[in-house]
Amino acid sequence: MKEAYKIETKCIQSGWQPSKGEPRVLPIYQSTTFLYENSDQMGRLFDLEDSGYFYTRLQNPTNDTVAAKITDLEGGVAGMLTSSGQAANYYAIFNICEAGDHFVSSSTIYGGTFNLFYVTMKKMGIDCTFVDPDAPEEEIAKAFRPNTKALFAETIANPAIVVTDIEKFAKIAHSHGVPLIMDNTFPTPINCRPFEWGADIVTHSTTKYMDGHAMCVGGCIVDSGNFDWDAHKDRFPGLTKPDPSYHGIVYTEKFGKGAYITKATVQVMRDLGSIQSPQNAFLLNIGLETLHLRMARHCENARKVAEFLNNHEKVAWVNYADLPGDKYYELAKKYMPGGTCGVIAFGLRGGRKVSVDFMDHLKMAAIVTHVADARTCVLHPASHTHRQLSDEQLKEAGVAPDLIRLSIGIEHVDDIIADLEQALSLV
Ligand SMILES: *Cc1c(COP(=O)(O)O)cnc(C)c1O
Repeated sequence: MKEAYKIETKCIQSGWQPSKGEPRVLPIYQSTTFLYENSDQMGRLFDLEDSGYFYTRLQNPTNDTVAAKITDLEGGVAGMLTSSGQAANYYAIFNICEAGDHFVSSSTIYGGTFNLFYVTMKKMGIDCTFVDPDAPEEEIAKAFRPNTKALFAETIANPAIVVTDIEKFAKIAHSHGVPLIMDNTFPTPINCRPFEWGADIVTHSTTKYMDGHAMCVGGCIVDSGNFDWDAHKDRFPGLTKPDPSYHGIVYTEKFGKGAYITKATVQVMRDLGSIQSPQNAFLLNIGLETLHLRMARHCENARKVAEFLNNHEKVAWVNYADLPGDKYYELAKKYMPGGTCGVIAFGLRGGRKVSVDFMDHLKMAAIVTHVADARTCVLHPASHTHRQLSDEQLKEAGVAPDLIRLSIGIEHVDDIIADLEQALSLV
């Protein structure tokens, strides 16, 4: 892609590149299958001897075009769409981990990802150790074992609004010969590009700001192409040794910098099948076209709301990394100088019961299991998304029992503040 373009331009111009007479707008290739002239042509595709579309579970032109746009926004070499953010994080890890392996994750992560890592992947024989992201390097390094294959964190943790020190994490991962995988859902590449700070693989729940309108569940994985799998051949046999399901292909030999995403596509997606529908990819692409405009407004509104809350006598605490004095203010200024995201975490004096009461009094801001879209919304993680976690696990995840997750939309900020003010007056 044209590297000279600024990120705002890439939101519009990257991805679909029609030639003469083709549709100007990305078409929805609503087809499971693709036509070939003879059996040999098709056979070569199955052997990965030729590249081309043959079945949408593996690849679809609409999906690939949107993945290419997100890859360009992140500054990566290859990407793939998945049916959800959950599938993206699962595949990103499972692509390089198998039964008997281990990985390390920040403890302050999205509740769904925590369940995936703590419960479900354990059932597959893949073990995860959780670490406090603010702990010193030596402390985090203690979690690594000989069979550790990856380090995982969120750039801005959902819902704790913890900002990860990406360079510190990259250094720890690389000194143990494993890639750093960062879930970049909350800042999006508009505000933070983890590859510029040493991350190797980025994942997204595109369900959030990228889609932006709460229309489609979706996910994406992007590879920077920077991690040298061959330098750690024995640690990553799935990429560096022959794949019996493809007549002995070695992904790093045949696909070079495309090895990781090719394997994720032709093996993990082929066998597990969490593909995004082309219709959803089309809608996601429309969201991406305004991502830069929306992120700016989300952040501008959230900064004003965070200040309002911070100055309100009924508010006990506010976590918002763009707020001067916030614990993560310095890290946010370093990694996302243009703004963080529209999500604020805060608690009210009087604790959990008052927090829940307050939410019930809101008129415009709806209580929904969603975050990071155009409409202002709220959620009480301890009662909703993180309901399955014990008090101890809640604490490790940075989720206080009274934490209200407030996702600031792109309405006029005066209306958002007025709604908060009237609800606060009633508790
Ligand atoms: C929502 C979310 C996920 C899960 O994504 P889905 O699209 O809901 O499957 C993963 N990571 C983060 C940071 C999220 O906010």
